[in-house]
Amino acid sequence: MSGDFLALAQPGVQQLSPYVPGKPVDELARELDLDPATIVKLASNENPLGASPKALAAIRDELAELTRYPDGNGFALKTLLAERCGVEIGQVTLGNGSNDILELVARAYLAPGLNAVFSEHAFAVYPIVTQAVGAQARVVPAKNWGHDLPAMLKAIDGQTRVVFIANPNNPTGTWFGAEELDEFLQDVPAHVLVVLDEAYIEYAEGSDLPDGLDFLAAYPNLLVSRTFSKAYGLAALRVGYGLSTPVVADVLNRVRQPFNVNSLALAAACAAVQDLDYLAESRRLNEAGMQQLEAGFRDLGLSWIPSKGNFIAVDLGREAAPVFQGLLREGVIVRPVANYGMPNHLRITIGLPAENTRFLEALAKVLARG
Ligand SMILES: *Cc1c(COP(=O)(O)O)cnc(C)c1O
Repeated sequence: MSGDFLALAQPGVQQLSPYVPGKPVDELARELDLDPATIVKLASNENPLGASPKALAAIRDELAELTRYPDGNGFALKTLLAERCGVEIGQVTLGNGSNDILELVARAYLAPGLNAVFSEHAFAVYPIVTQAVGAQARVVPAKNWGHDLPAMLKAIDGQTRVVFIANPNNPTGTWFGAEELDEFLQDVPAHVLVVLDEAYIEYAEGSDLPDGLDFLAAYPNLLVSRTFSKAYGLAALRVGYGLSTPVVADVLNRVRQPFNVNSLALAAACAAVQDLDYLAESRRLNEAGMQQLEAGFRDLGLSWIPSKGNFIAVDLGREAAPVFQGLLREGVIVRPVANYGMPNHLRITIGLPAENTRFLEALAKVLARG
Protein backbone atom coordinates (compact mmCIF):
# COMPACT_ATOMS: atom_id res chain seq x y z
CA MET A 1 0.00 0.00 0.00
CA SER A 2 1.28 3.45 -0.78
CA GLY A 3 0.96 6.47 1.49
CA ASP A 4 -1.24 9.43 0.59
CA PHE A 5 1.53 11.94 0.20
CA LEU A 6 -0.86 14.83 -0.22
CA ALA A 7 -2.60 14.05 3.07
CA LEU A 8 0.83 13.49 4.65
CA ALA A 9 2.00 17.02 3.79
CA GLN A 10 1.80 19.33 6.78
CA PRO A 11 -1.64 20.99 6.98
CA GLY A 12 -0.43 24.46 6.01
CA VAL A 13 1.11 23.09 2.82
CA GLN A 14 -2.01 21.10 1.93
CA GLN A 15 -3.98 24.35 1.96
CA LEU A 16 -1.53 26.23 -0.27
CA SER A 17 -1.91 26.96 -3.96
CA PRO A 18 1.33 27.30 -5.91
CA TYR A 19 2.46 30.79 -6.91
CA VAL A 20 1.09 31.65 -10.36
CA PRO A 21 3.71 33.56 -12.38
CA GLY A 22 3.07 35.75 -15.42
CA LYS A 23 2.60 33.72 -18.59
CA PRO A 24 5.96 33.22 -20.32
CA VAL A 25 6.32 34.63 -23.85
CA ASP A 26 7.45 31.29 -25.29
CA GLU A 27 4.42 29.50 -23.84
CA LEU A 28 1.97 31.89 -25.54
CA ALA A 29 4.00 31.70 -28.76
CA ARG A 30 3.69 27.89 -28.70
CA GLU A 31 -0.03 27.94 -27.89
CA LEU A 32 -0.99 30.47 -30.59
CA ASP A 33 1.77 29.64 -33.06
CA LEU A 34 3.04 33.23 -32.89
CA ASP A 35 6.50 34.65 -33.42
CA PRO A 36 7.77 35.33 -29.85
CA ALA A 37 9.23 38.62 -31.12
CA THR A 38 5.71 39.94 -31.79
CA ILE A 39 4.47 39.23 -28.26
CA VAL A 40 4.35 41.99 -25.65
CA LYS A 41 4.68 40.83 -22.05
CA LEU A 42 3.60 43.32 -19.41
CA ALA A 43 2.84 40.73 -16.76
CA SER A 44 5.66 40.38 -14.27
CA ASN A 45 6.80 43.89 -13.36
CA GLU A 46 10.03 43.33 -15.25
CA ASN A 47 12.16 46.26 -16.35
CA PRO A 48 11.45 46.87 -20.08
CA LEU A 49 14.83 48.55 -20.55
CA GLY A 50 16.82 45.30 -20.64
CA ALA A 51 19.66 44.75 -18.18
CA SER A 52 22.32 47.40 -17.61
CA PRO A 53 25.22 46.97 -20.08
CA LYS A 54 27.55 47.26 -17.08
CA ALA A 55 25.83 44.30 -15.43
CA LEU A 56 26.13 42.28 -18.63
CA ALA A 57 29.85 43.07 -18.86
CA ALA A 58 30.34 42.03 -15.24
CA ILE A 59 28.68 38.69 -15.97
CA ARG A 60 30.97 38.08 -18.95
CA ASP A 61 34.00 38.81 -16.77
CA GLU A 62 32.77 36.36 -14.17
CA LEU A 63 32.17 33.46 -16.57
CA ALA A 64 35.75 32.20 -16.29
CA GLU A 65 35.13 31.42 -12.61
CA LEU A 66 32.02 29.25 -13.02
CA THR A 67 33.82 26.20 -11.72
CA ARG A 68 34.22 27.79 -8.29
CA TYR A 69 31.62 28.26 -5.59
CA PRO A 70 30.43 31.83 -5.23
CA ASP A 71 31.50 33.94 -2.26
CA GLY A 72 28.96 32.60 0.23
CA ASN A 73 29.24 35.79 2.27
CA GLY A 74 28.74 38.06 -0.74
CA PHE A 75 31.38 40.39 0.65
CA ALA A 76 31.73 42.69 -2.37
CA LEU A 77 27.99 43.21 -2.84
CA LYS A 78 27.31 43.59 0.88
CA THR A 79 30.06 46.21 1.08
CA LEU A 80 28.53 48.23 -1.74
CA LEU A 81 25.02 47.92 -0.32
CA ALA A 82 26.11 48.85 3.19
CA GLU A 83 27.83 51.94 1.82
CA ARG A 84 24.85 52.90 -0.33
CA CYS A 85 22.32 52.32 2.45
CA GLY A 86 24.38 53.80 5.27
CA VAL A 87 24.40 50.65 7.40
CA GLU A 88 27.04 48.24 8.71
CA ILE A 89 27.94 45.23 6.60
CA GLY A 90 26.60 42.98 9.37
CA GLN A 91 23.12 44.42 8.83
CA VAL A 92 22.89 43.14 5.24
CA THR A 93 21.47 39.72 4.33
CA LEU A 94 21.62 38.62 0.69
CA GLY A 95 18.86 36.51 -0.80
CA ASN A 96 18.09 34.53 -3.92
CA GLY A 97 15.68 37.26 -4.87
CA SER A 98 13.95 39.09 -2.06
CA ASN A 99 11.52 36.17 -1.97
CA ASP A 100 14.37 34.30 -0.35
CA ILE A 101 14.59 36.96 2.37
CA LEU A 102 10.84 36.58 3.06
CA GLU A 103 11.30 32.83 3.29
CA LEU A 104 14.31 33.11 5.61
CA VAL A 105 12.23 35.31 7.93
CA ALA A 106 9.43 32.74 7.97
CA ARG A 107 11.81 29.82 8.56
CA ALA A 108 13.58 31.65 11.37
CA TYR A 109 10.63 33.20 13.18
CA LEU A 110 7.41 31.34 12.32
CA ALA A 111 6.22 27.85 13.29
CA PRO A 112 2.97 26.01 14.04
CA GLY A 113 1.09 27.88 16.77
CA LEU A 114 2.51 31.25 15.65
CA ASN A 115 1.10 33.64 13.06
CA ALA A 116 2.02 36.31 10.52
CA VAL A 117 -0.17 39.34 9.83
CA PHE A 118 -0.51 40.85 6.37
CA SER A 119 -3.10 42.65 4.24
CA GLU A 120 -5.74 41.51 1.84
CA HIS A 121 -4.53 42.04 -1.78
CA ALA A 122 -0.92 41.74 -0.57
CA PHE A 123 1.93 39.94 -2.34
CA ALA A 124 1.14 36.23 -2.89
CA VAL A 125 4.44 35.11 -1.43
CA TYR A 126 3.46 36.14 2.14
CA PRO A 127 0.86 33.37 2.58
CA ILE A 128 3.15 30.87 0.88
CA VAL A 129 6.14 31.38 3.17
CA THR A 130 3.87 31.58 6.24
CA GLN A 131 1.88 28.41 5.62
CA ALA A 132 4.92 26.53 4.34
CA VAL A 133 6.30 26.50 7.87
CA GLY A 134 2.94 25.61 9.43
CA ALA A 135 2.20 29.07 10.81
CA GLN A 136 -1.17 30.81 10.55
CA ALA A 137 -1.77 33.62 8.03
CA ARG A 138 -3.84 36.46 9.46
CA VAL A 139 -5.19 38.44 6.54
CA VAL A 140 -6.49 41.91 7.41
CA PRO A 141 -9.12 43.49 5.13
CA ALA A 142 -7.69 46.25 2.93
CA LYS A 143 -8.85 49.86 2.97
CA ASN A 144 -9.24 51.55 -0.44
CA TRP A 145 -7.18 48.63 -1.84
CA GLY A 146 -4.23 49.55 0.43
CA HIS A 147 -2.94 48.39 3.81
CA ASP A 148 -5.11 49.36 6.78
CA LEU A 149 -2.21 49.74 9.20
CA PRO A 150 -4.34 50.48 12.32
CA ALA A 151 -6.45 47.37 11.61
CA MET A 152 -3.27 45.36 11.10
CA LEU A 153 -2.06 46.52 14.52
CA LYS A 154 -5.26 45.23 16.08
CA ALA A 155 -4.76 41.84 14.41
CA ILE A 156 -1.43 41.34 16.19
CA ASP A 157 -1.59 39.05 19.22
CA GLY A 158 0.83 37.23 21.52
CA GLN A 159 1.40 34.55 18.88
CA THR A 160 2.27 37.02 16.11
CA ARG A 161 5.94 37.03 15.19
CA VAL A 162 5.97 38.71 11.78
CA VAL A 163 4.02 41.44 9.98
CA PHE A 164 4.54 41.77 6.24
CA ILE A 165 3.86 45.22 4.77
CA ALA A 166 4.71 46.29 1.23
CA ASN A 167 5.28 49.91 0.23
CA PRO A 168 4.19 50.30 -2.48
CA ASN A 169 2.10 47.14 -2.48
CA ASN A 170 1.92 44.70 -5.36
CA PRO A 171 -0.52 44.19 -7.15
CA THR A 172 -2.43 47.30 -6.04
CA GLY A 173 0.39 49.88 -6.25
CA THR A 174 -0.98 51.52 -3.09
CA TRP A 175 1.32 53.15 -0.55
CA PHE A 176 1.49 54.72 2.89
CA GLY A 177 3.38 57.80 4.06
CA ALA A 178 6.16 58.33 6.59
CA GLU A 179 3.85 59.45 9.35
CA GLU A 180 1.58 56.41 9.02
CA LEU A 181 4.60 54.12 8.97
CA ASP A 182 6.12 55.77 12.02
CA GLU A 183 2.87 55.54 14.01
CA PHE A 184 2.58 51.88 13.05
CA LEU A 185 6.15 51.06 14.05
CA GLN A 186 5.71 52.88 17.36
CA ASP A 187 2.71 50.73 18.24
CA VAL A 188 3.88 47.32 17.00
CA PRO A 189 4.82 45.18 20.00
CA ALA A 190 8.57 44.65 20.38
CA HIS A 191 8.29 40.87 19.86
CA VAL A 192 6.98 41.30 16.30
CA LEU A 193 9.36 41.60 13.36
CA VAL A 194 8.04 44.08 10.79
CA VAL A 195 9.10 43.14 7.27
CA LEU A 196 8.85 46.27 5.14
CA ASP A 197 8.92 45.00 1.56
CA GLU A 198 10.33 47.77 -0.65
CA ALA A 199 10.61 45.86 -3.93
CA TYR A 200 9.65 48.99 -5.91
CA ILE A 201 11.19 51.72 -3.75
CA GLU A 202 13.68 52.84 -6.41
CA TYR A 203 10.75 53.93 -8.59
CA ALA A 204 9.37 56.11 -5.80
CA GLU A 205 12.44 58.27 -5.27
CA GLY A 206 11.49 61.91 -4.95
CA SER A 207 7.88 61.07 -4.07
CA ASP A 208 6.14 61.08 -0.70
CA LEU A 209 6.99 57.44 -0.03
CA PRO A 210 9.09 57.00 3.10
CA ASP A 211 12.53 55.40 2.85
CA GLY A 212 12.45 52.40 5.17
CA LEU A 213 16.14 52.86 5.93
CA ASP A 214 15.32 56.05 7.84
CA PHE A 215 13.48 53.95 10.41
CA LEU A 216 16.04 51.16 10.95
CA ALA A 217 17.98 52.89 13.72
CA ALA A 218 14.87 53.67 15.78
CA TYR A 219 13.15 50.30 15.38
CA PRO A 220 15.24 47.16 16.03
CA ASN A 221 12.23 45.01 15.06
CA LEU A 222 12.27 46.36 11.48
CA LEU A 223 13.61 44.52 8.45
CA VAL A 224 13.61 46.26 5.07
CA SER A 225 13.69 43.99 2.03
CA ARG A 226 14.70 45.14 -1.44
CA THR A 227 15.45 43.55 -4.78
CA PHE A 228 17.47 43.72 -7.97
CA SER A 229 14.54 42.25 -9.92
CA LYS A 230 12.60 45.41 -10.64
CA ALA A 231 14.23 48.84 -11.14
CA TYR A 232 17.69 47.22 -11.39
CA GLY A 233 16.44 44.97 -14.20
CA LEU A 234 17.97 41.67 -13.07
CA ALA A 235 14.89 39.52 -12.38
CA ALA A 236 16.32 36.35 -13.93
CA LEU A 237 19.41 36.37 -11.74
CA ARG A 238 17.52 36.29 -8.42
CA VAL A 239 19.19 38.78 -6.08
CA GLY A 240 17.55 40.59 -3.20
CA TYR A 241 18.62 41.81 0.20
CA GLY A 242 17.40 42.47 3.70
CA LEU A 243 18.53 45.29 5.99
CA SER A 244 17.99 44.80 9.71
CA THR A 245 19.80 44.78 13.01
CA PRO A 246 22.92 42.58 13.06
CA VAL A 247 21.06 40.20 15.42
CA VAL A 248 18.26 39.56 12.92
CA ALA A 249 20.82 39.28 10.09
CA ASP A 250 22.74 36.71 12.14
CA VAL A 251 19.58 34.66 12.70
CA LEU A 252 18.68 34.72 9.00
CA ASN A 253 22.23 33.76 8.12
CA ARG A 254 21.83 30.55 10.18
CA VAL A 255 18.96 29.23 8.05
CA ARG A 256 20.24 30.50 4.71
CA GLN A 257 21.57 28.11 2.08
CA PRO A 258 25.36 28.55 2.15
CA PHE A 259 25.56 29.74 -1.48
CA ASN A 260 22.11 31.22 -1.99
CA VAL A 261 23.25 33.90 -4.44
CA ASN A 262 25.26 32.70 -7.42
CA SER A 263 28.45 34.33 -8.64
CA LEU A 264 27.01 35.78 -11.88
CA ALA A 265 24.21 37.36 -9.90
CA LEU A 266 26.64 38.79 -7.34
CA ALA A 267 28.85 40.28 -10.08
CA ALA A 268 25.90 41.74 -11.98
CA ALA A 269 24.34 43.22 -8.85
CA CYS A 270 27.65 44.88 -7.90
CA ALA A 271 27.75 46.54 -11.31
CA ALA A 272 24.04 47.41 -11.30
CA VAL A 273 24.13 49.09 -7.91
CA GLN A 274 26.79 51.46 -9.25
CA ASP A 275 25.00 52.19 -12.54
CA LEU A 276 23.02 55.20 -11.43
CA ASP A 277 22.34 56.29 -15.02
CA TYR A 278 20.50 53.04 -15.67
CA LEU A 279 18.41 53.53 -12.55
CA ALA A 280 17.56 57.11 -13.52
CA GLU A 281 16.56 56.01 -17.03
CA SER A 282 14.38 53.20 -15.59
CA ARG A 283 12.62 55.74 -13.42
CA ARG A 284 12.13 58.22 -16.27
CA LEU A 285 10.76 55.53 -18.57
CA ASN A 286 8.43 54.34 -15.84
CA GLU A 287 7.02 57.78 -15.14
CA ALA A 288 6.40 58.45 -18.84
CA GLY A 289 4.82 55.00 -19.30
CA MET A 290 2.61 55.45 -16.26
CA GLN A 291 1.27 58.70 -17.71
CA GLN A 292 0.77 57.05 -21.08
CA LEU A 293 -1.28 54.22 -19.58
CA GLU A 294 -3.31 56.54 -17.37
CA ALA A 295 -4.14 58.72 -20.38
CA GLY A 296 -5.09 55.61 -22.35
CA PHE A 297 -7.37 54.35 -19.57
CA ARG A 298 -8.99 57.79 -19.32
CA ASP A 299 -9.71 57.71 -23.06
CA LEU A 300 -11.32 54.29 -22.65
CA GLY A 301 -13.42 55.49 -19.71
CA LEU A 302 -11.70 53.10 -17.31
CA SER A 303 -10.63 53.81 -13.75
CA TRP A 304 -7.48 52.54 -12.07
CA ILE A 305 -5.78 52.39 -8.70
CA PRO A 306 -3.09 55.12 -8.52
CA SER A 307 0.28 53.34 -8.29
CA LYS A 308 3.81 54.12 -7.11
CA GLY A 309 5.24 50.95 -8.66
CA ASN A 310 6.18 49.99 -12.22
CA PHE A 311 2.69 48.58 -12.77
CA ILE A 312 -0.90 49.69 -12.54
CA ALA A 313 -4.15 47.88 -11.72
CA VAL A 314 -6.93 48.91 -14.08
CA ASP A 315 -10.60 48.40 -13.18
CA LEU A 316 -12.56 46.97 -16.09
CA GLY A 317 -15.87 47.28 -14.26
CA ARG A 318 -16.61 43.67 -15.13
CA GLU A 319 -14.97 40.27 -14.95
CA ALA A 320 -11.41 40.67 -16.21
CA ALA A 321 -10.70 37.05 -17.18
CA PRO A 322 -12.30 37.20 -20.68
CA VAL A 323 -10.46 40.47 -21.40
CA PHE A 324 -7.21 38.85 -20.31
CA GLN A 325 -7.91 35.98 -22.74
CA GLY A 326 -8.79 38.43 -25.51
CA LEU A 327 -5.51 40.28 -24.95
CA LEU A 328 -3.59 36.99 -25.17
CA ARG A 329 -5.12 36.39 -28.59
CA GLU A 330 -3.79 39.84 -29.56
CA GLY A 331 -0.33 38.73 -28.43
CA VAL A 332 -0.36 40.85 -25.26
CA ILE A 333 0.30 39.24 -21.89
CA VAL A 334 -0.85 41.10 -18.78
CA ARG A 335 -1.62 39.81 -15.31
CA PRO A 336 -5.03 38.68 -14.05
CA VAL A 337 -5.35 39.31 -10.31
CA ALA A 338 -8.51 37.37 -9.39
CA ASN A 339 -6.30 35.23 -7.16
CA TYR A 340 -5.58 38.44 -5.21
CA GLY A 341 -9.30 39.00 -4.66
CA MET A 342 -9.49 41.47 -7.58
CA PRO A 343 -11.59 39.73 -10.26
CA ASN A 344 -12.44 42.97 -12.14
CA HIS A 345 -8.86 44.26 -12.38
CA LEU A 346 -5.90 43.51 -14.59
CA ARG A 347 -2.38 44.46 -13.55
CA ILE A 348 -0.29 45.99 -16.31
CA THR A 349 3.48 46.39 -16.04
CA ILE A 350 4.74 49.67 -17.50
CA GLY A 351 6.54 48.84 -20.75
CA LEU A 352 8.42 50.74 -23.42
CA PRO A 353 6.31 53.42 -25.15
CA ALA A 354 5.64 51.17 -28.16
CA GLU A 355 4.68 48.25 -25.90
CA ASN A 356 2.27 50.45 -23.95
CA THR A 357 0.73 51.57 -27.23
CA ARG A 358 0.37 47.96 -28.42
CA PHE A 359 -1.34 47.09 -25.15
CA LEU A 360 -3.72 50.07 -25.23
CA GLU A 361 -4.70 49.38 -28.84
CA ALA A 362 -5.28 45.70 -28.08
CA LEU A 363 -7.31 46.61 -24.99
CA ALA A 364 -9.51 49.02 -26.97
CA LYS A 365 -10.08 46.32 -29.59
CA VAL A 366 -10.95 43.62 -27.04
CA LEU A 367 -13.27 45.92 -25.08
CA ALA A 368 -15.01 47.06 -28.27
CA ARG A 369 -15.97 43.43 -28.97
CA GLY A 370 -17.97 43.56 -25.74
C1 LIG B 1 8.58 41.42 -7.24
C2 LIG B 1 8.35 41.50 -5.78
C3 LIG B 1 9.28 41.03 -4.86
C4 LIG B 1 10.62 40.56 -5.26
O1 LIG B 1 10.77 39.46 -5.95
P1 LIG B 1 12.25 38.89 -6.14
O2 LIG B 1 12.38 38.76 -7.60
O3 LIG B 1 12.22 37.60 -5.42
O4 LIG B 1 13.21 39.83 -5.53
C5 LIG B 1 9.04 41.16 -3.52
N1 LIG B 1 7.94 41.75 -3.07
C6 LIG B 1 7.03 42.24 -3.91
C7 LIG B 1 5.85 42.93 -3.35
C8 LIG B 1 7.20 42.12 -5.28
O5 LIG B 1 6.27 42.58 -6.10
